[in-house]
Amino acid sequence: MTATQKRGVRVRFAPSPTGFLHVGSVRTALFNWIFAKQNSGKFILRIEDTDKERSKPEYEKNILESLKWLGLDWDEGPSPNGAQNNADDTQNNAEKSQRESASSRRKSAYIGDYGPYRQSERIKIYRNYIERLIGEGRAYRCFCSKEQLESDRQTMLAEGLPPKYGGRCRNIKKEDGEKRMKNGEACVIRFVVPETDVEFNDLVRGNVKFSGELMGDMIIAKSEDEPLYNFAATIDDELMEITHVIRAEEHLSNTPKQIFLQQALNFREIKYAHIPLILNPDRSKMSKRYLESSVNDYRSGGYLPEAMLNFLSLLGWHPKEEKEILGIDEIIKEFDIKRVQKAGAVFNIEKLNWINSQYIKKKTNTELAALLRIFLENKNIDAEDEFVAKVAGAEKERVKTIAELAEAAEFFFKLPDYGPELLTWKNRTAAETKNAINESLKMLDEIPEEKFAREEIGNALQQLIEKTGRGEVLWPIRAALSGQKASPDPLEIMGILGKKETERRLKIAMKKL
Ligand code: GLU
Repeated sequence: MTATQKRGVRVRFAPSPTGFLHVGSVRTALFNWIFAKQNSGKFILRIEDTDKERSKPEYEKNILESLKWLGLDWDEGPSPNGAQNNADDTQNNAEKSQRESASSRRKSAYIGDYGPYRQSERIKIYRNYIERLIGEGRAYRCFCSKEQLESDRQTMLAEGLPPKYGGRCRNIKKEDGEKRMKNGEACVIRFVVPETDVEFNDLVRGNVKFSGELMGDMIIAKSEDEPLYNFAATIDDELMEITHVIRAEEHLSNTPKQIFLQQALNFREIKYAHIPLILNPDRSKMSKRYLESSVNDYRSGGYLPEAMLNFLSLLGWHPKEEKEILGIDEIIKEFDIKRVQKAGAVFNIEKLNWINSQYIKKKTNTELAALLRIFLENKNIDAEDEFVAKVAGAEKERVKTIAELAEAAEFFFKLPDYGPELLTWKNRTAAETKNAINESLKMLDEIPEEKFAREEIGNALQQLIEKTGRGEVLWPIRAALSGQKASPDPLEIMGILGKKETERRLKIAMKKL
C-alpha cells in the first residue's frame, strides 16, 4: 500500500515488563524516538504485558522511570484512570488524542504526561479480532496435545522435513470446536497461515523473504482472552496507526507472521527496520553482564543520561563525519535509519566510559555538584553547595563517572585514615618530613583567612619549595590533606579546604610522625 508513505510517522517502543529495562532495549527505544523526532512523528510506549506470570508492575515502573531519566518521552497514551483512548479503532485518533492529552496532564498520577498503553487493558479489543478471524474461518481451535505435537515433530524430522504444525485441527468445524471447548477440552487458537511467500523491504536489511509454507499454522492465542505476542502486537500496530516498526533483529522471524495477520485482517502495511545485534568486543553475542545490565545499574554507576544516549546511538550507526561526541540534537539531525548497519554492533564499555568522561568535563561545577550530591548522600556526606561545586571542579578532569567522582572527592569531606609512611617523600626521614610540614604551616599561617586561595598559597610556599625541594614540601602536604597518593594539585586542595581545615589536617599529620 503506497498510502504508508503519506501517513504521519508513528513509531512504538513495546517492551515486555518482565525485567528491568536493559540497555539493549534502550537502544531500540532510542532509535524509534529519534526517528519520530526527525519526522515530526509520534513515539508511542506500549507495555506488552499479556504474559501474566512474567509481567510485574515493578518492572513497568522501572521502564517508565528509566525512559524518563533518559529523556525519552512518549507522546501519547491512555489517561491515568486507565481508560483507553486513541488506540481504539472506533475513535477519531487525532481529536481524541488531543482531548486525552489535556486531561492526562491534569491528573499527574502518572510518571509522564500520559500513561503508556498496556496490552492487559486491551483484552476486549483483541478478543473482537480473534472472533472475527474464527468467524471468517481464518483461525480455528486446535485440540492437539503436547504429546501429539511432539510426535508429529519427530515424524517430520525423521522424514527430513522442517517441522511445522501439520494442520490436524484445521478442518474442525467452528461449532464443533466451540462445543468441545465448552465441554472442557483444552485448546489454543491457531491462525491459518497462507502457503505463500511473504516479502518485505526492510529499511536496514533490504529485501527479506519468508515462506509461509514452512511456517505452519501459528498459535495466536491461548484463548479469546489470552492473546499471544504476535497477534496482540499486530492488532495494536494497526490501531495505534504505527507506520514504522523499528526493533531488534531477533524479531525478524516474527515479521512474516505479523504480515500474514495484517493481510488477513486487511490492515495497512508497515515499514520495518530490524536493527543489528549487540556484540561483545570479541564479536561474540553480547554477554549478560553488559547488555542485560539494567539502565538502573548505569544510573547508579554514575553515567549521565546524555552520555548513554550518545553511546547507544552509535551502536549500529555512526555519523557521516568521524565524530564520537554528539548531543541529542545533532543525533536527531544526522541519524539515518537507512545507514544503520546490518552487522552486529560492538558494545565497548571503554568507549562508554570515555564518552561519559567527556560529558562530565563539559558540565559546569554547579551542574556537577547537583549530580555529585546524590552520590554523596549515599555516603552520608552533606556540605554547602559552593563547597561541593568547588570539589567537583577539582576532580572533574580525572574521573569517568559520577560514582568515581564521589569516590575521588570523599577525602574533601572526611579525612581518611592513613599511615605515617604515606607522608614521607622518597627516602626522607620522619623528622625531615615533620620539619617540612612545620615550616609549611608557618608560611601558610601568614596568609589571612579570606585570601587563602591557590595563588596566594603558591606564593607563600615558593621560597620554602625553592630551598627544600618541591617533592619535600608538597608531597607531605598532599598526603596530609587527602590521605592518599593521588589527588588534585595540593595547592588547589588547600584553597578548597580553607585555612582552618588545612591547618587542622597538617597538624594531624605532624602528630603521626
Ligand atoms: N514485547 C516485545 C519485546 O519486548 C516487542 C517486540 C516488538 O517490538 O514487536 O521484545
